[in-house]
Amino acid sequence: MSDPLNNSYYAATANAWKTQPAYTGEGGFDVAVIGGGFTGLSAALACAEKGLQVALFEAQTIGFGASGRNGGQLIPGLRWSMREIDAEFGRERAKAIFDLAYGAVERVKDRIATHGIKCDLKAGHLEAAYKPDHFDAMQRDSEFLATQFGWESNIVQPQDMRRHIDGGGYHGGIYDPQGGHFHPLNYALGLAQAAKAAGVAIFENSSVSADAIDTRAVILATDTWMNDQDRALGRHTIPIMNYNVATASLPDADRLFPSDAAVADSRFVLNYFRLSADKRLLFGGGEKYVQTPPADIAAFVRKHIVEVFPTLADTPIEYAWGGPVGVTMNRLPHIGRKGNVFFAHGFSGHGALVTTLAGELLAEAVTGTMERFDVFANLPHRPFPGGRLFARPLATLGLLYYALKDRL
Ligand SMILES: Cc1cc2nc3c(=O)[nH]c(=O)nc-3n(C[C@H](O)[C@H](O)[C@H](O)COP(=O)(O)OP(=O)(O)OC[C@H]3O[C@@H](n4cnc5c(N)ncnc54)[C@H](O)[C@@H]3O)c2cc1C
Repeated sequence: MSDPLNNSYYAATANAWKTQPAYTGEGGFDVAVIGGGFTGLSAALACAEKGLQVALFEAQTIGFGASGRNGGQLIPGLRWSMREIDAEFGRERAKAIFDLAYGAVERVKDRIATHGIKCDLKAGHLEAAYKPDHFDAMQRDSEFLATQFGWESNIVQPQDMRRHIDGGGYHGGIYDPQGGHFHPLNYALGLAQAAKAAGVAIFENSSVSADAIDTRAVILATDTWMNDQDRALGRHTIPIMNYNVATASLPDADRLFPSDAAVADSRFVLNYFRLSADKRLLFGGGEKYVQTPPADIAAFVRKHIVEVFPTLADTPIEYAWGGPVGVTMNRLPHIGRKGNVFFAHGFSGHGALVTTLAGELLAEAVTGTMERFDVFANLPHRPFPGGRLFARPLATLGLLYYALKDRL
């Protein structure tokens, strides 16, 4: 891959995959899926399972976008807590959203098991409180989720945090045994193998646009590249650059992560980290609201590592990479349809699980089953204000405000 941002641990440890041919005008497909990340792959696979002739187009290589670069943190639910969703949308809609958003965990596990995808899946996710009042809110959320929706997670008191992590000085947390972590690129490649086996024609190095393809339906799964497909849709997300590193394998990995959970802290610009299968620290931290990467990504992320694990100040960093996170105004995914074009994007940093489900909902909608799709399609969304020229600067100002609030 030529992208300097993709010197990733995942690319270096990717399972074997035979590059698929570029598109040369083949026809006869019912559905065109544009984008070879989790959303597109899941949609293509689900459409093929419904008996449709499917072509999937990926501009670069499978998993090139956020799906092959992300933190691999499997965090059940959406960016909003169920308490917030319930307050905003009422119990009936909240229950429908819960069933889908939390049911997404099983959809990913089911795909991994059914297709035998080797992607280092591990159980356990810990949300770590950066401030005492964050822990208060987390406990309320966790109790609400358990009593109102039957989703059990464990409240971890500050003094018990060492059962999961030796570092960070966190003020307690929530451990969710149903969450976890995985190797995202290998999950994407596994979905691609499954899609191929189900009869999907996959075209790599094939950048296409929806209006150039003659099929009954088109699925847009291009996330932060949506603007190239449809300007109006593109204005619903902004890309926020996020950076990751992998250290050398850690001799004291088991002491630092006794339960091998993935950890994300509760800040607006969060640190998130976990062990890889070969006991490296995989760490994501620091965001940038401009597209230009820092001159030295490793040094940019190391600052954040040292905040959490001061003893790792000199541990070698062997891979450093980054990618754009597609974020919507309200941080809920934007899913919908425009005629025979169906789209899903803007998972706002919570895409590792929900994208697989979103792909399946897109396939349902293409075949005329709208009920579950509409649960998401009916969520209210607004484009970022400011038009093409000012949307990003304005959004950046807003985001910087929240990042600053965390530091106070
Ligand atoms: C650094 C980083 C860390 C993250 N960490 C986490 C995490 O730990 N947990 C979590 O839940 N979420 C995380 N996310 C978010 C998550 O990765 C995304 O929400 C999810 O992968 C989006 O999947 P997608 O398939 O919709 O989009 P993508 O994976 O971005 O796929 C879109 C694809 O479309 C292709 N494309 C674009 N234009 C065209 C065209 N014209 N023709 C053909 N193909 C085209 C692109 O090449 C790309 O491969 C992270 C994201 C990033 C960037």
